[in-house]
Amino acid sequence: MRSYKDSKTCLITAIILLILFLPSNIFAMNDDSRGTLILLGNENLAPIVYNDKGTAKGVAVDIAIAIGNKIGYDIKVMAVNWEQAQEMMLNGEADGLLHINPSPERNKRYDYSSPLLKSEFSMFIQCENVTLRTIDDLKNKRVGVEAAGYPISLLQGYETIDFEMIDNWESSFKALSTGDLDAIIVDRWIGEYELAQSRVAGIGIVEKAVETQYSRIAVRIGDAETLSLINSGLKEITEDGTIDKIMQQWQGKRVVYITEDYLQNFFLHSASFFLLLVALISIYYVRKYRKLNIKLEAMVKDRTEELRQTNEILKETNLKLERISMTDGLTSIENRRAFDIVYERAWKLSMREGIPLALIMIDIDNFKFFNDNYGHLSGDQALIKIARVIKAAIKRPGDLAARYGGEEFVVILMNTTLEGAAVVAEEIRRRVEELGIENGGQQTLLTVSLGVSSVIPTDGMKPDELIDTVDRALYKAKKAGRNKVIVGKHQEEC
Ligand code: GH3
Ligand code: MG
Ligand code: MG
Repeated sequence: MRSYKDSKTCLITAIILLILFLPSNIFAMNDDSRGTLILLGNENLAPIVYNDKGTAKGVAVDIAIAIGNKIGYDIKVMAVNWEQAQEMMLNGEADGLLHINPSPERNKRYDYSSPLLKSEFSMFIQCENVTLRTIDDLKNKRVGVEAAGYPISLLQGYETIDFEMIDNWESSFKALSTGDLDAIIVDRWIGEYELAQSRVAGIGIVEKAVETQYSRIAVRIGDAETLSLINSGLKEITEDGTIDKIMQQWQGKRVVYITEDYLQNFFLHSASFFLLLVALISIYYVRKYRKLNIKLEAMVKDRTEELRQTNEILKETNLKLERISMTDGLTSIENRRAFDIVYERAWKLSMREGIPLALIMIDIDNFKFFNDNYGHLSGDQALIKIARVIKAAIKRPGDLAARYGGEEFVVILMNTTLEGAAVVAEEIRRRVEELGIENGGQQTLLTVSLGVSSVIPTDGMKPDELIDTVDRALYKAKKAGRNKVIVGKHQEEC
């Protein structure tokens, strides 16, 4: 009974284990059904295909793997010696050759896929070498080429060219720099990469490629099945952009070989360009600021002119105001304010110069009576006429006739003695009388009374003293019957 139970348990366990392992076994079987293609590449064509510590790497390798993914095949790439690769291919050890350029000889053995990568076979030479430019220039020259590579078939027609097989890129580029080789012909991308890696100086590239070719994947001649598989994968990765992405990744890693000359020229051109740029920017700003300066100068000129004009107007206005403030509104001769200013100056000047200063004080006789009889407006007219007469009696530039207040006038005569002043006063009196302005009453005509005096001012004297003297003289003239000139002597008063 117990052994029956044990065998039942074993059976159930076995069934469970079987169920558990079954799917993975099935999957593993499916995986095994996936086909494999073996492609051989040149171990020495970095960065297109090369052997990196036993693993094939390079842009062509990535493309091959991408093709495999599309067609559902594992594509294994082996990077080996290129001659060996071609032998292995003939021996049936591989399905194809990766990255190979067709040549008449190869065409006998292989069929090719659609184009894979563009190869620009270029000539690497010493920088200073100006004679080597095309294949024709390579007659009797030593030329480095990859063993079993395309450039050999390219140069086959030229019997006089002395080939040297390249085992190691660095030693070949060194040989080129020392003159042991005259040129190396290789795919430009590969040559630039290897040259940069080997850091050999003094080597340049002839810009025009010797030949431009498209590499392909080669299969044994007649192997249409493999070829069609590869071509369909290649077509797909070309159309869906995978090939472009792979190219971009490897182009990014592309090492560009730059010669010292190129670097020097580059820096020289960059420096020249920079200087030119600085010069242009400077010119731009100098011009800009010059224009701005001219504009500013013009603005300043305009503002200065405006200011000058405003000043002129202000000056004129001030002068007018000054004149107005110094002029009597009714008679238009100077007023009391003008008299005060001029008299003070005249006093000081006369004192300094020691010359006589004369004053005439004039008062219209019985003017109240005139106003009362003929009206105030007629009185104003009479005042104007008499003011004109007084003004006309003043002939010298330094003299002044002013309305002193009401119907009183005053005259300043510079450098004038008492006698001279009396003559002027008498003339004023006579001319006012000659105006013939009617004034009814005791005196039939409008007349004036005048007090006159003159003095040479001295330190101890005050300007008011002369005014008092002429005032008193005027008073006397009134007392003496009006229409008279009375001379007041200052000394006498003292
Ligand atoms: P006297 O000969 O003593 O000087 O007599 P008078 O009448 O002139 O004397 P008073 O000084 O008393 O009178 C002056 C008059 O002058 C009084 C006033 O009406 C008149 N008067 C003063 N200023 C003006 C003025 O601007 N216009 C007019 N129309 N009359 C004026
Ligand atoms: Mg008076
Ligand atoms: Mg009077």
